[in-house]
Parts: sequence; structure tokens; C-alpha cells
Amino acid sequence: MKFSKSFIPTLKEVPNDAVVTSHVLMLRTGMIRSLGAGIYSFLPLGYKVVKKISEIIREEMDAIGGQEFHLPALNPKEIWEETGRVEAFGDILFQIKNRDYVLAPTHEEIVTYHARKALKSYKELPQIWYQIQTKFRNEARPRSGVIRGRQFLMKDAYSFDSSYENLDSSYQLHDGAYRKIFDRCGLKYFVVGASSGAMGGSGSEEFMVKSDAGEDTVAYCESCGYAANVEVASSKVSPKERDAESKTIYEISTPNVKSIDELCVFLKIDEKECAKSRVVMHDNKVVLLLMLGNDEVNETKIESILGGTVRPAHPEELKEITGADAGSIGPVGFNGRILADLRLKDANNLYSGANKNDYHIGGIDLARDVKNIEYVDLRIVKSGEGCPKCNKMLDVFTAIELGHIFKLGTKYSDAMGATFLDENGKENPLIMGSYGIGVDRVMACFIEQHHDEKGIVWDKTLAPFDIHLLALNLKNQTIAETSEKVYKELQDAGFQVLFDDRVDAGAGFKFNDADLLGMPIQVIIGEKKMKEGKVEVKIRKTDERFDVEIEKLIEFLKALD
Ligand code: ATP
Ligand code: MG
Repeated sequence: MKFSKSFIPTLKEVPNDAVVTSHVLMLRTGMIRSLGAGIYSFLPLGYKVVKKISEIIREEMDAIGGQEFHLPALNPKEIWEETGRVEAFGDILFQIKNRDYVLAPTHEEIVTYHARKALKSYKELPQIWYQIQTKFRNEARPRSGVIRGRQFLMKDAYSFDSSYENLDSSYQLHDGAYRKIFDRCGLKYFVVGASSGAMGGSGSEEFMVKSDAGEDTVAYCESCGYAANVEVASSKVSPKERDAESKTIYEISTPNVKSIDELCVFLKIDEKECAKSRVVMHDNKVVLLLMLGNDEVNETKIESILGGTVRPAHPEELKEITGADAGSIGPVGFNGRILADLRLKDANNLYSGANKNDYHIGGIDLARDVKNIEYVDLRIVKSGEGCPKCNKMLDVFTAIELGHIFKLGTKYSDAMGATFLDENGKENPLIMGSYGIGVDRVMACFIEQHHDEKGIVWDKTLAPFDIHLLALNLKNQTIAETSEKVYKELQDAGFQVLFDDRVDAGAGFKFNDADLLGMPIQVIIGEKKMKEGKVEVKIRKTDERFDVEIEKLIEFLKALD
């Protein structure tokens, strides 16, 4: 491809609405342009990469027996009503105003619709159906470029099996395919998951990459590979040691002391001697949550322990239930359910609120002074704590989800009545799995991981072109002729070449563009070296440079592979 005839609108400046590196670089390299919040046009250079990623995905999905579909993005709403997901998706679902259609945010309903009509016998199972299709989600905060778009490309796959055992196999096949896909794409990723229960049907794993642009926070152990969303992560962290002797309980006047930090300063004590209380409402019942020091409560853990939603008690409720305002609440004398974090198990000589404004209590022995206390893991884990598996150091950071594999079980087949006849002629719901990869996200994440201050650094696998050929002074007749000849020879040898043949662009300008666009190899044709019958070959990743005889160029480049 000749640069002079291509539409590659590179930008020198950083566009001011872009913050995340991949977003900046995709705009600057002319791979994408914004059309509205969360809506992007892929320009030719960007679309080349999308196609390369899609091809890798196709190859690996076909290798596990996947069959490619192309399902409509425009879906009759009534199908979505069968599963109740019009409500479940809420505002995320794009609905067509004057028609009963929705724009598909995913395709479980549609594959189940087809499976219900078509898959009738165990003999037709298993099936793996996939597609690479545009999805629509009215994301509340589209940002970070294509990482969170309102329209984006997803590879979504669905498996149909006759037993949970077979679902396990389909799931494993996808797990393997995903690893191959992300490895081939050159991504450094890790897998976060809840392993499936004994009965299967509930396992789910997320393939993630570490990134400041991420909206998920994960705890990861470099040493053993333990990875979990902080919502469910646990860690090894020392409990409050129980002192040999318990003091007697006593009340302390603590005027205007509200936070743990203020209490520590006021009493000259350590935060590890304090138990912090929070009151929440669950099903109209009050629950007191007790944490050591400034440990933070993990909302997801609370909700899974209590089941259902939980909300903080309002100030009036607090006053009515405890007799005090937030900051003076404590477990002693508290009338209701108490959940304490495991770090506090049977701790003694603690300070906590007295359920009386401006007072605290010291010398609390939880085993002695607080009845009906339940000890559970309530904490949000922090960086530097011990890995729950190997005890080495956990790292907590933000990450982006690249892909997701999920054992759906019979959620959709039950709701939509998609059944098959088993070996005994008995009707059973199809057992399903669902598996997604964000294609645009793979591209953005690659760039997040492979760039330097000058621009993108592509690997051969995803690079839009193998070689960036730069001819420096095309007004020079010999250079013009030689570079045309080299361009042709490289193409004949099977290389994909972007030939910067712009006559009026200066050398510096061309070098900058080549580094920004980031093809793995640059072949530079300039007057000085050409006089010796040579060209310069530059490796973008390492900045290594070689002077290569023109006659031996193809041979040299082939050897680099
Ligand atoms: P997230 O938590 O990031 O919103 P999700 O859990 O909603 O992701 P899934 O429904 O599992 O995502 O979709 C499968 C894949 O599609 C994701 O792993 C991700 O790579 C991609 N994806 C999801 N939402 C978007 C989006 N708004 N823009 C780009 N890609 C997306
Ligand atoms: Mg989402």
C-alpha cells in the first residue's frame, strides 16, 4: 500500500478528549475516529488489525469445532421478554422507539431461540455456535476509547450439551482456545475465576489484563497465579492477637471523636486496638458490621453472606436503633445481628463506640461482652497482603476484562423452554455455556501493553503491515526507482508493505510517522547508503539497525522471522 494513496490520517498532537494510551494512539495513528460518545469508526489501518484478530479467533474457534453464525443485531423484543432480560439489562439495552425491537447486547436469547426449534435429540449434541458480531450496549460511561464502547465487536460463542459433564468439556475447550487466542495475539493476561461447583453449571472465568484504564479491581499473585476480583478475593492477614488477660470494660468520654484515626490520636492507641462499626439494613432488619481498625467492608461479600441487597442505615434509623450517631456506635449492648470480620475473632481489649454520642468503650472482650457475634470474611483485600494460596505477596490493581467463559447451565433453556430428548426419551433442558471476547478490546489492550513514547510497537501477528518502507528523498531519480523496485520485490516475496512514497514529506516527518504507526520492521532508503548499494533496516521494538545490501534484503528479512 502506498502511503500517498492511503487514508491514514495520523495526528501529531494528542487529541484532548483522550486520556488512555491506547485511545490516544488509536486516534493518532488514524486507526479510529469518534462518531459520538462510545461510538467509533474503524478506518482502514485499524480495520486491518480487527480483521487479523478476528481471523485468529476464527481459527481457534473452528479448531474446537465451533461453527460460525451471523445472527441479527436487530432482535424482536418479544424474544428478550421470554427471559426477563429486557428488565434485567434496563437502560443498557437499546430499544427501538416506534417498533418492538431491541439492539442485541449479547445473543443468548437468539441462539436459544434457534436451538429450541432445531436441537431436539441428544444425538445432535454437543454444539458450539459462535459469531463475530457488533453488539450494542448503552453503557452509562463510555470511555477509554474502544475499551468501553456503546457499539463494539464481540466474538460470542454458545455451547449446548446434554449433561453437566459434557458442559465441563465444552467449557474446557473454550478455556484452551482462549489461551491460544490471547497468546497468539501477544497479550500478557491472567485468569480470574470462581471454579465450578461440584454440580457444575455455575463456573465462570474472566481473562484479564492489568491496565490503569481498567474498571475491575483484582488481586493477583505473581508467584502462584492466584487471581480474584477484589469483590471476592481473600488474603492472609494477621488477626488481632488475643491478649493473655482481658481488662474490665470501661466507658471513656471522647468528645467530638468520630473516626478511628481521631480515636487513635485522642487515646494514643493503635488502630489495631479498635473495632469499627457500621450499621446496614437488610430486609428491614438491622445488621452491625464490625471491622478491625480501618479495614474496609467488602459490599459484595456482605451481600453474598446476607443474600439480597443491603443498604446503609439512614442517620435517623441509626439514632433510633443504637441511640447514637455514626462514629459512636459499637457492639456492646447492640440489639441485633452482628457480623464481625475474621481478623477480630475472639479479640479482647478493644476500643469501640459506646452507642452513646461522645463516648467510647475500652477493654472490650468480644467473646465475653458481645453475644451472638458471627465471624466471617468481610474485608477488602489490599496490596502487600499474603496470597491466600501461597502466602507470597498479593498485588491489587485495576484490570480490563478481555474475555469471559461462563457455564450458564439451564438458565436460558429453562426460561425459553429449549429442551432435547435424552437417551431414555426423556425431555430435558439444554445445558448451555456462553463465551465472549471483546475484539476491539483485544486490540486496545495489545496497544496498552506494546507501545513506547514514540508510538505503537506491533508484533508481526497483529501488525497492519509487516514492513514500513521509507524512501527519503523521492525527488532523487535513483531513489525513486530503487524504492519502487524494492517495494515490488518485497511484495512479491510475500511481505505486506506500507510504502511511504510521499514526495513532499521530510525525512523527520516520515520517521516519526513510521515510529508512531509501529510496523515491526522499517526499511529505509536514503541517498548515502544507497550509494554503497545498501538500505537501512530498523527493528521498531529494539531500535536495532542494520545496513543491508539491496540484493540481499529479502534474504535478510526472511531470516529475521
Ligand atoms: P465489563 O465488565 O467490562 O462491562 P461485561 O462483563 O459486561 O464486561 P460480557 O457481557 O461478558 O462483558 O461480554 C463479553 C466481552 O465483551 C467482555 O469480556 C469484553 O471483552 C467485551 N465487552 C463488554 N462490554 C464492552 C464494551 N462496552 N465495549 C467493548 N467491549 C466490551
Ligand atoms: Mg458490562
